[in-house]
This record gives sequence, C-alpha cells and structure tokens, in this order.
Amino acid sequence: MSERCQQETHVARAAVGGTLSESLRAHVAGCSDCAAAAAIAPFMTRFARTNERQRRLPDASVIWLKAQLLRGSVMAERVSRPLNVLQIASYVLVAGGWAAVVTWKWSNLQQWLLSVTPERLVGGLVGTESALSIPFLLTVVGLASLTVMVALHTILAEE
Ligand SMILES: [Zn+2]
Repeated sequence: MSERCQQETHVARAAVGGTLSESLRAHVAGCSDCAAAAAIAPFMTRFARTNERQRRLPDASVIWLKAQLLRGSVMAERVSRPLNVLQIASYVLVAGGWAAVVTWKWSNLQQWLLSVTPERLVGGLVGTESALSIPFLLTVVGLASLTVMVALHTILAEE
C-alpha cells in the first residue's frame, strides 16, 4: 500500500470550501491521489450531510418493548400447544364415545326412531321394555355434558 500524500487532507478541505490556493492547485495537477480527493470531497461532504431516513427510527425503549411482547407471544404459543393436543384428544374421545354408544344400542335406537310418534316421544325412551336401560341413559347424559364442556372450552379458548 502506497503512503498517503501529506497534502491530501488540505486539498480535500480546500476543495469542499472552494478555496484551493495556487500552490495546492499546482500540487493537484501533479498528484493523482489529491486530484481524486479534490474531485470527490465536495460530493462526500454533501452525502454525509443528507439525512437518508424519511422516517425517524423508533425509540430504543419501544423496540425493546416490542421484542418483549413478541417473546411473550411466542412463549404463550409454546405453552398452549399441549393444551391444543389435549383438546384434539378430547374431540376424538367425545366422537368415539358417541360412535360407541350409537353402535352399542343401534338396533334399539333404530326401533325407537321408527316407532316415534309425538305422544310416545317423551315416555318412549325409558318406557319401552327398558330397551334403553339406565346405564345407557347415564352414558348418554355423561357424553352430552362432556360434549357441551368440550364445545364451551373451544369457544372460550378462541376468544
Ligand atoms: Zn498529493
């Protein structure tokens, strides 16, 4: 690397101010480094003074707060993931329970549905020769409340 010309700083400063003396002009004519410095110095000074940002940067505390909030939402998402797995498991459990109940008493349900009349609708379920027994009714009530609980949890979790 070649050594820097001693006059370069003076030449650049004078070029920016537009006050190149005769002796400096004579030096610039013979020195390529100083010629380049004299040519580029006014532009570099203007460039350094331009404010390139159209909008000001936000305050450092605002950036810090945003980072904290983002980290908090990422952590909340990480924590709620097992809950989502539990929710899906409860959907599968409830759907499977209903499928099992319907399969278990399918012939009785079919018989009951085919024989439904408005008068028998109320008393028919328990009345017909205890076809749909108390354990079955308890299972249905349990499954129904479980379904309502899962549905409520889903609705509340979405809000
Ligand atoms: Zn020079």
